[in-house]
Amino acid sequence: MDIQSLHGVGKRRASLFAKLGLHTAEDLLPYYPRAYEDRSDLKMIAALAPGDTVCVRAAVAEPVSGHRIRGALELFKTRAFDATGMLDLTFFNAPYVKTALRQGQEYIFYGKVSSDARGRLQMTNPICEPADKAGRSTGRILPCYRLTAGLTQGFVRSAAGQALERFLDTLEDPLPHELRQRLGLCEARFAVANIHFPQSYQALEQARRRLVFEELLILQLALARLKNRRERRAGFQLPPADLTDFYAALPFSLTDDQQNAIADTLEDLAGGSLAHRLIQGDVGSGKTLVAAACAVSAIRGGGPASSVQAALMAPTEILAEQHYATLHGLLAGLGIETALLTGRLTAAQKRKTREKIASGQAQMVIGTHALLSAGVEFRHLALTVTDEQHRFGVRQQATLSAKGQSEIVNPQLSTVNCQLSTLNCPPHRLVMSATPIPRTLALILYGDMDVTVMRGMPPGRKPVKTYAVTEEMRPRIHAFIRRLAGEGRQIYIVCPTIGESTEPELDTGLAAAEEYAETLRETVFPDLRVGLLHGKQPPKAKEAAMRAFAGGETQVLVSTTVIEVGVDVPNATLMVVENAERFGLSQLHQLRGRVGRGAEESYCVLFLQSRSETAKQRLDILCKNTDGFAIAEADLALRGPGDFFGERQHGLPEFRLADLSADMELIALARAEAEALSGQEDFGELEGAVRKMLEAMEG
Ligand code: ADP
Ligand code: MG
Repeated sequence: MDIQSLHGVGKRRASLFAKLGLHTAEDLLPYYPRAYEDRSDLKMIAALAPGDTVCVRAAVAEPVSGHRIRGALELFKTRAFDATGMLDLTFFNAPYVKTALRQGQEYIFYGKVSSDARGRLQMTNPICEPADKAGRSTGRILPCYRLTAGLTQGFVRSAAGQALERFLDTLEDPLPHELRQRLGLCEARFAVANIHFPQSYQALEQARRRLVFEELLILQLALARLKNRRERRAGFQLPPADLTDFYAALPFSLTDDQQNAIADTLEDLAGGSLAHRLIQGDVGSGKTLVAAACAVSAIRGGGPASSVQAALMAPTEILAEQHYATLHGLLAGLGIETALLTGRLTAAQKRKTREKIASGQAQMVIGTHALLSAGVEFRHLALTVTDEQHRFGVRQQATLSAKGQSEIVNPQLSTVNCQLSTLNCPPHRLVMSATPIPRTLALILYGDMDVTVMRGMPPGRKPVKTYAVTEEMRPRIHAFIRRLAGEGRQIYIVCPTIGESTEPELDTGLAAAEEYAETLRETVFPDLRVGLLHGKQPPKAKEAAMRAFAGGETQVLVSTTVIEVGVDVPNATLMVVENAERFGLSQLHQLRGRVGRGAEESYCVLFLQSRSETAKQRLDILCKNTDGFAIAEADLALRGPGDFFGERQHGLPEFRLADLSADMELIALARAEAEALSGQEDFGELEGAVRKMLEAMEG
């Protein structure tokens, strides 16, 4: 029903509601409050203290008197009493109280208590309702909705109240009766009524619990549906190839975790349905070789004359080049030709490389993500590996691929003639992530993918010695930097902001990379070669700075978190992080992963600018742990999931109520139910809600 059918909503307000995404009157039902105001607390006057915000039931003691103070300001005053005392009431510019408040009548007053110069208690501009008709805006817990300019809280409340009155009785419960009974969840109507206008805190908690569960269950069923759909789509069927020569060419043997990840993926590729696997492995766990092994198997799996191709995509050109440097020789030894396609090639080189890719001569293709969007034609692309998709991107990509016509995949790829099975199939997808996500969250977020976790590290890796230090240590750290540089080592210094005085943070003493690099060069380390790298540099300057560091030309690299992504400079043995309390623990762990890549002892120094004890505690977690998963769990417990997902960047529809950090128990509960149901073709009573969720996800 049109939202204008609600009392008080005309064209103008309808357009304001539209800004909040509310178009019909029914839309208000799932427009849950973001907070509540407790007006249920009824106190006696004698028990009031200045600062309380409470309801008082009191009778008006005298007629309201008006006093014009100056110009437009008019004060209206009266007093009210209950059995225990007297309360002064003052209203600004509210002539209506003269008639609304009648001497001798009882009202509920809701407002903040203060005391005047003489110590008398008073309320200014309280909300009042006649005691016999109270219950609308006093004496209860009131919802607070997200608003937009022009819509008041009171107005949205009234609209929500009207919507409830009209539609609550028609609301169908998506959760089956049996399920609710078994899990002790309240009915939908009770839940929706009480999430808006709670009868009590207990009722609110019951309502929330039930609605969060519903939200999580439906999300997971939607993800399961996506997974089922994908699994039913045909993929290139690629039998596992003999990789003996590949393994023999490596200077070490693979870890158990690497072997497991390879085995999982090869099984996917052989299955005949479209694969989509996420490999989560801590920094340094050796994901590159897993990617390579899977690519080799895929390429060979097509048979000797098939010209099946694999693509490895990195988030930056530097990283792509690094992968190329690692892999092309290795693969050449196995008779596989590798091509690197980056923006640095000349036009002629690019054309030649494209030709090789189109003809199938280049079987392994390495580049950035632009590889698949820049109109590069493949002959038979059978596998794409996305490396270091560790910041939110995984989910976004998953969602894209769920659309069937993935935006990052060339349209022609999905119709490529798959010689192997005479079917048209898009490439299998393997995604590498170095963000250890706590299992509970991974299940929720990646329910449509298969997930392999690599927890172990290659042997012999020395833990990075990590210290959280305060400002007093700076001279010693500077001396340490100079000593390491003297020994031929390199140092990263990471700052939270870039510089430029428009950044308000500068005032609070945050180290800014640009200025800091300048200071270091001029006054602290005039004898050292200091480089600068940050996200706002033009790509060329970024590349140059990274290259100079990787090549050993600069000794100290001052940088923002852009270096977080996968870069490998084994000669760098010290990571210094300024204002470390500003970073998430998982992010700090990533940064720390930039060192400790060579044979030398490595260090991570976290400068703590804040004196807060919790900040210290958080950093201590990092000093004491080397396992990214343990750190992620601890971070989740301490800070909530923001660190993992940023601002709603996870690509899932916004949760209406669920809080992924606080609702762990409900996540597990919903997970168990979803698992039990996930094989079903039709989710019965839940089906409608699941479809709606899928629509929302597929945009
Ligand atoms: P990440 O998982 O962070 O991408 P990399 O693939 O870059 O890790 O590997 C980190 C380092 O570990 C590389 O120098 C690589 O050669 C080395 N490495 C990988 N696997 C092994 C192994 N099984 N044994 C020893 N070293 C390994
Ligand atoms: Mg890597």
